[in-house]
Amino acid sequence: MIKTIQLSHGSGRGLDDLLHEIILPETGMAADAVLEDAAVFPLQKGCIAFTTDSFVVQPLEFPGGDIGKLAVCGTVNDLAVMGAVPLALSVALILEEGLDAGLLRRMLRSMRDECGRTGITICCGDTKVVDKGKADGMFITTSGIGVVPAGRDISAANARPGDRVLVSGPLGLHGIAILAARKGLNFASLAVSDCACLHTLVEAMLAAAPHTHCLRDATRGGCAAVLNELAAASGVTISISQDAVPVPPEVTSACGFLGLDPLHIANEGRFVAVVPEKESGAALSALRSHELGKGACMIGFVEKKGKFPAIMRTAIGGTRVVDVPPGELLPRIC
Ligand code: MG
Repeated sequence: MIKTIQLSHGSGRGLDDLLHEIILPETGMAADAVLEDAAVFPLQKGCIAFTTDSFVVQPLEFPGGDIGKLAVCGTVNDLAVMGAVPLALSVALILEEGLDAGLLRRMLRSMRDECGRTGITICCGDTKVVDKGKADGMFITTSGIGVVPAGRDISAANARPGDRVLVSGPLGLHGIAILAARKGLNFASLAVSDCACLHTLVEAMLAAAPHTHCLRDATRGGCAAVLNELAAASGVTISISQDAVPVPPEVTSACGFLGLDPLHIANEGRFVAVVPEKESGAALSALRSHELGKGACMIGFVEKKGKFPAIMRTAIGGTRVVDVPPGELLPRIC
């Protein structure tokens, strides 16, 4: 029985043992599955969305999730915010020599459970083992394919003056949960990551607001980065109200203590939506009726292009620029 991962598990009979003892059963595939060189799909109606992401989060397990769940949610969400229905996932594992086999099993089970909830299928994968000290336990790369139904046109370049700007829930929990777990910060230990697959929330919102212009998940760089990216791609200015931005108390207090801006903190289960004014009320109700969108809020609107891409009216009546974080505030959060 495999107790820890060894370099010999990277090829030949060792790889075969690892695949059949741990990887295939824990990801829900039959041990006698025929392992082809590529997955083959029938062509679908609509457009294909295709995306990829690598996951290097530390620690591997954190309040609200782990690297396995994150690797499914991150890629599913990049498909979902393009209006795509997630279909198939590829999983590449880079394992460090000495990795505990029990930990590997937990991470793979977590991926399988999240795929089960999502309806996406792991259809292909790869496993490599590197020397001790050359990877922090494990890295995961996932690529995903989804199908965008005909008629949907969601793009970062579609925001128009008059549109309303919504966020799907309270901001900053993922980044603060990782920070607290990594640094052992007691004052932030109540933060639980928002890590979740958002495709059903997106579908519920699109059913109520079919002419939604832009959607983007607010991951690295937080909500501030997304507002700036959408404004730049669309050639507009986005104006938000500080009072309207939902920030949970555990994020407010941690950011206050550490001198961080909640708008800069990463999320793994929140998106920003830009919706035509006349569909914005229906969009907000649809979000709030869904388990993952209960804390959704309308935070602002789109204006003609001004001096800055994104501005915020502050709680005390001033106006400030919503800037993009200068670099990675907190590395290895996803
Ligand atoms: Mg994204």
